[in-house]
Amino acid sequence: MICIAIANQKGGVGKTTTAINVGTALAATGLNVLILDLDPQGNASTGLGIGRNDREYSTYDLLVGDLMLNEAAVETKVPRLSIVPATVDLSGAEIELIEFEARTHRLDRVVEASGGRWDVILIDCPPSLGLLTINAMVASHALLVPLQCEFFALEGLSQLLSTVERIRGRFNPGLSILGVVLTMYDRRNRLTDQVSDDVRAVLGKVVFDTVIPRNVRLSEAPSHGVPALIYDYRCAGSEAYIALAREVIARLPSLAEAA
Ligand code: ADP
Ligand code: MG
Repeated sequence: MICIAIANQKGGVGKTTTAINVGTALAATGLNVLILDLDPQGNASTGLGIGRNDREYSTYDLLVGDLMLNEAAVETKVPRLSIVPATVDLSGAEIELIEFEARTHRLDRVVEASGGRWDVILIDCPPSLGLLTINAMVASHALLVPLQCEFFALEGLSQLLSTVERIRGRFNPGLSILGVVLTMYDRRNRLTDQVSDDVRAVLGKVVFDTVIPRNVRLSEAPSHGVPALIYDYRCAGSEAYIALAREVIARLPSLAEAA
C-alpha cells in the first residue's frame, strides 16, 4: 500500500480534481484505490456522487472517533474506487484533535492498520497547513503537489516545503515528494508558459512532464457526481489526467522500495 497526500495550502489549485481523476485512472488500471476526503468542504465526496445524506461516516470519525478505514469507506460508481467522505463536523476536528496526545498520528494510525485492502490511498487535503494536513503528511509516503500556472505559483511553495521538512524531522523521515503537477495551463496565455518554464528551472525533475490544461469539462464533471474521466474521457483534461496517472505509476516503485 502506498499513501499519497495531495497537498497545497492554496485553495482552488486543482487538488480535488487531481485526487478524483488520478484516483479514477489508477483504479482503471486494476489497482484498488481509496480517497480520503480531508477537506471539510467535501468537494471530493460531492464530485464522486456521495451526497450529504449518504455520508453516514466520514474522515472525522477516523480522526476524532475510533472508526477504521474499512468501516468508513463507501464505494463510488467507479469500480475499485472507494472514498471516506468528509462531513461538516470535520471543520471542528482541528480544535478537537488538540485534546489527543497523538494528535498528529490519528490518520497514520488508521492508514497503518488498513492491511492489504487498498493498493493506493490518496488524501485530498484542505487548503491549509493545519493539523488536518499535518495528519495527512504523517500518514503518507509521499506528496503530490498541484501548482496552478499563475504568476505567484512558487510563492507559498517554500512554506509547504518547510512544513514537509519539519514533518520529516519530527515524525516521518521517509516522506518524499512524488511530484509537482502544473494545473490550469492555458497555452493561449504567454504568462503561463513563462510560469511553467520558471517552475521547471527552479524545481527540476520533480515536476511532472504532463501539464493539466484549463479545461471546462474538468470543472463541469463534479456537478454530475462523476469524475471527468467518466463524464468525458476524451476531453483534453481527461487525457492529461491519464498521462499524469501513467507518470505517477512510473514513480511508484521507488516509493514502494522506500516504504
Ligand atoms: P482545490 O481542491 O485545490 O481547491 P479544485 O480541484 O477544487 O481545487 O479546483 C478548483 C475549481 O477549479 C473547481 O471548480 C474545479 O472544478 C476547477 N478546476 C480544477 N482544475 C481545472 C482545470 N484544469 N481546468 C478548469 N477548471 C478546473
Ligand atoms: Mg479541494
